[in-house]
Amino acid sequence: TIEISNAVKAFGDKPVLRGIDLTIAAGTVTVILGPSGSGKSTLLRAINHLERLDEGYVVVGGELIGVRVQGDRLKELSEKQILRQRSRIGFVFQNFNLFPHLTILENVTEAPISLGVAPADARARATALLDRVGLAEKAAAYPRQLSGGQQQRVAIARALALEPQVILFDEPTSALDPELVDEVLQVIRTLAGEGTTLVVVTHEIGFAREVADRVVFIDDGRVVEEGAPGDILDHPTQPRTIDFLSKVL
Ligand code: ATP
Ligand code: MG
Repeated sequence: TIEISNAVKAFGDKPVLRGIDLTIAAGTVTVILGPSGSGKSTLLRAINHLERLDEGYVVVGGELIGVRVQGDRLKELSEKQILRQRSRIGFVFQNFNLFPHLTILENVTEAPISLGVAPADARARATALLDRVGLAEKAAAYPRQLSGGQQQRVAIARALALEPQVILFDEPTSALDPELVDEVLQVIRTLAGEGTTLVVVTHEIGFAREVADRVVFIDDGRVVEEGAPGDILDHPTQPRTIDFLSKVL
């Protein structure tokens, strides 16, 4: 379970998150929708300690992420605590972010090995994960030798390598050529079917309708509307949601 409470964040004097409350139950798929600049990436990054909140807090699996404001005192986590917590949260980026100088297999084993998993065990697990995303035969290749869709599937295998409690996807298909989108969505769909907790920022409305348990619409740093996909996508009640959906559908 992820509990986000009053997440507030500004860049300079520009407010980006204006007090977001959101609870994401374990084993569910949440799709986050919203216009460009509404704060979706910032929210995902706050869950993974890539951004520090100004106010509020995030709890993942019972553990505090980021800061909790206690009166005027901030609780800071040590670098070690942050790394440990981050290892429980997979993150898949729009632009794959594979290590270009490492092979596909090494991309998947890098984090587990650096966290102390025996290299032979990490390699065995990485091989199984690459098989799962349909890329076992690419283990010795380098990222530049793969298509965008293949690279993104490696990035998903890499996120799975740490057996995370949750995987965050930030527009995982928006950098892909249209014909490569489906192979990546198919992998995400399979994870959803296995009960992995997923939070997916995407404009793929068809995917949201089919796979999401819940759709959350964010605009200007606030949750405007949330609910079951059938409700939010087909019967939105808020003008900003209606306007947004009329542009992406
Ligand atoms: P998109 O759909 O375009 O990815 P988004 O909803 O993910 O948008 P964010 O990336 O969270 O939006 O950005 C929200 C706002 O915060 C934007 O106005 C952006 O310019 C600003 N912003 C994000 N990161 C920074 C930063 N590191 N420094 C300053 N401003 C930032
Ligand atoms: Mg973004």
